Amino acid sequence: MQNPKVLGDVVVHKWGVDLPFLLKILSVGRSLSIQAHPDKELAGFLHKLQPNVYKDANHKPEMALALTEFEALCGFISSEELDDVLETFPEFKELVGNAYTNPILTIDKHNGEVKEESVLSLIFTKLMSVEREVISKALSKLINRISRENEIRHLTSKEELVLKLEKQYPNDVGVLAALLLNLVKLEPGDGLYIAANEPHAYLNGECIECMAASDNVVRAGLTPKYIDVKTLCSMLTYKQGLPEILKGVPLNQYVRRYTPPFEEFEVDQCVLDQGASAVFPAVQGPSVFVVILGEGKMLASSCEELVSEGAALFAPAETEVCVSTDSKLQLYKAGVNRKVLLNPLHDEEMRYL
Ligand SMILES: [Zn+2]
Repeated sequence: MQNPKVLGDVVVHKWGVDLPFLLKILSVGRSLSIQAHPDKELAGFLHKLQPNVYKDANHKPEMALALTEFEALCGFISSEELDDVLETFPEFKELVGNAYTNPILTIDKHNGEVKEESVLSLIFTKLMSVEREVISKALSKLINRISRENEIRHLTSKEELVLKLEKQYPNDVGVLAALLLNLVKLEPGDGLYIAANEPHAYLNGECIECMAASDNVVRAGLTPKYIDVKTLCSMLTYKQGLPEILKGVPLNQYVRRYTPPFEEFEVDQCVLDQGASAVFPAVQGPSVFVVILGEGKMLASSCEELVSEGAALFAPAETEVCVSTDSKLQLYKAGVNRKVLLNPLHDEEMRYL
């Protein structure tokens, strides 16, 4: 950046002279790849080792805020759900081998947590290592069976997911890997954040996505691109259970804040009715605004802009921004996590929040 002053001292001191976050609008028609992003330590290591594949040394925590109904896969399923998958998808069970699946079915639910998690990692690792032809055969067997059963009964949401994904990505291991992940359905206004080393995929819908500025991705399926199986299987946390869904905290009548446990960003949603206005007070870091609906005015440092759907604006650090509308206006604002700006000396602790 040629004029790093606009980022503010705290940000430049902590992250250097580039904007630490990116803000995007995503419209997902066809499912995106199952992927995970390495943590900072691993990202640094991978970048050194394979700079062509891993483009930078940064981590990439991300957050999706649903604009429409939005479906995603995020994190590994619980042990109970894993039992259910093994029982209802015999083709899958056959593929990953009885050696791994048997202990799950006999495990004591009250004291078996550690053992169950490692079983899940064994199953995932085994699945990702199976040859493509074997995956193809298992998938066609599975698809044939479900298609037949579809004529005589309602399919479960997992069965429907398998059919849909297989149409989009024939013979792809990701169709089966998806069975091991939580299927999450967000309503408009819900937020989902994804920490380092957690598997995820966006399946369909529209969302605002905010992330740390990085390109590092390790893919796990639903992709024609390279899958680094060894890195993938060793980096994942194998944490099981549903992810946290953020609902946003109201700051006033018009603005809700979504704060993920990451330092680089937080996102405000602002919905204004006719004649309403809101003020975003000056902060020590930069902000990026994107208007997604309606039209109105934005006033900053005595400069007034007429804005409408699709407008994107940058506000330097220490700039107060006023927004108003005569009709209606909906926008999102991304900025650095407030806790870092308020308490830059203790930001290392943020990772453990
Ligand atoms: Zn991602």
